[in-house]
Amino acid sequence: MNKGRVFLVGAGPGDPKLISVRGMEAIQRADVIVYDRLANPRLLKHRRPEAELIFVGKLPDKHILKQEEISQLLLDLALQGKVVTRLKGGDPSVFGRVGEEAELLAEHGVTFDIIPGITSSIAVPAYAGIPVTHRDFTSSVAIVTGHEYPNKTYSSLNWDHLAKAIGTMVFLMGVANLEQICRELIRCGKPADMPVALVRWGTWADQATITGTLGDIVEKVRAADFKSPAVIIVGEVVKLREKLAWVEKKPLFGRRIMVTRARSQASELVDLIDDLGGEPVEFPVIRMQPPTKPEVVAALDAALARLPEFDWVILTSVNGVEYFFRSLRERGIDIRKLGGARIVAVGPKTAEALAERGIIADVIPAKFQGEGILEALEAELRAGQKALLPTADLARDYLPKRLGELGLSVTEVDIYENVLSVDDGDELLQLLTTQSIHIITFTSSSTVTNLFEALRQLGVEDPLSLLQGVEIACIGPKTAETAAKAGLPITYMAEEATVASLVHSMIQGGGMHHEFSNRT
Ligand code: SAH
Repeated sequence: MNKGRVFLVGAGPGDPKLISVRGMEAIQRADVIVYDRLANPRLLKHRRPEAELIFVGKLPDKHILKQEEISQLLLDLALQGKVVTRLKGGDPSVFGRVGEEAELLAEHGVTFDIIPGITSSIAVPAYAGIPVTHRDFTSSVAIVTGHEYPNKTYSSLNWDHLAKAIGTMVFLMGVANLEQICRELIRCGKPADMPVALVRWGTWADQATITGTLGDIVEKVRAADFKSPAVIIVGEVVKLREKLAWVEKKPLFGRRIMVTRARSQASELVDLIDDLGGEPVEFPVIRMQPPTKPEVVAALDAALARLPEFDWVILTSVNGVEYFFRSLRERGIDIRKLGGARIVAVGPKTAEALAERGIIADVIPAKFQGEGILEALEAELRAGQKALLPTADLARDYLPKRLGELGLSVTEVDIYENVLSVDDGDELLQLLTTQSIHIITFTSSSTVTNLFEALRQLGVEDPLSLLQGVEIACIGPKTAETAAKAGLPITYMAEEATVASLVHSMIQGGGMHHEFSNRT
């Protein structure tokens, strides 16, 4: 029996969180994902690693595949027994040609689901502070194509009825025909001072809005060189924007911010950026893994085998905690073997990670650097005591040195290693070359060096020139030093070495604000 089936899915208007739960499930289940330009590529990260991706356009000037070819492709893939997810911007039924795709599937007896999405025609105005209906202004709304079927004459739309009967009109695909739209509406009796708004790349970091009237919007749009994709809203509701504009008020509005830290560590930063109205884009340049070098593994084996001997176990990061327990588990070592040791966490996050595993740290130094640890411990450190320091391969050497000077016997083991990671290179290069990334965040020196290395591996000869004009945010002086050495000017610097402080610096910093990005 052929198990091929097709999910015809609305991806929502752009903001990747505006997809339905069912839509997300369809992405997670797919063998093949067929997607186009208005579906946010970030959604694709939820696919199965082995899922195939097929991009089918459409840029305004070039359709990579014709509609009939796309429909045929979906059919062919399904007939091969694949689970196919067709991801479309907005809602698939609203000028999304889902009907044509579903018809062909139905004719061939292929099972399909239509999973609605949040349409840009309603969501994009809402993100610009324009509810498409309002009891005081209108009781009807029409969603109209601004780009008629090429073989129909433009006037096949009944402008007269539209202008008389409908309160709010939302035009999709209409930027190129804005002049005709305004002219027709005025000709059919709409007043020239009727408010109009255009919202471009709504719900994305590039969201930009321009307002005017039927009489003057064409000139304004021309002057601002305002391009598609945009929705055009005509109606009294546009006035509400003055009061209701909300997205623009968020402190990181309009900023697409790249997160370079390892995916396993990135969520706090990503969530904060998102919550403050920025668009986080994750391109981790680091991945953590258990040590692989034989000598490092051997040293770790040996140290963990004599775990009960240690007086102190000092954990210096959340990752350190995670990999420490992982190494115990992998070796079948019971945590009760730690019973005799006093356990130190360098900061509250590390302490929390320990607490999650049932261990309440004995000491949590107030300062995050090595110096802070020593102040907190000094009174209790004795010569001859044994300390275990499970760290990373790139950890700083201040702490073990100082402990050694105090007469302790220090065993340092690499508990994990950082390796370069290069994911979604094409998307990264595309965003960087179009200057669509506004800020890059660096949360450690290795994020800086790895980004340069990753770009080189992607074929960029001069990474520095590709990063020109991008603002740089660093979590601390060490990281900033590495960035500066690499030739990057530092725009923002966290006061404290925390993610919250890093984000705060971007809000306070007042770097240059990008009105329009070069995205097309
Ligand atoms: N099915 C889609 C519409 C497809 S037609 C939906 O329901 O949203 C493509 C048009 O949608 C574009 O020309 C533009 O007018 C509009 N559009 C889609 N996403 C948009 C966005 N994020 N911002 C502004 N306009 C958008």
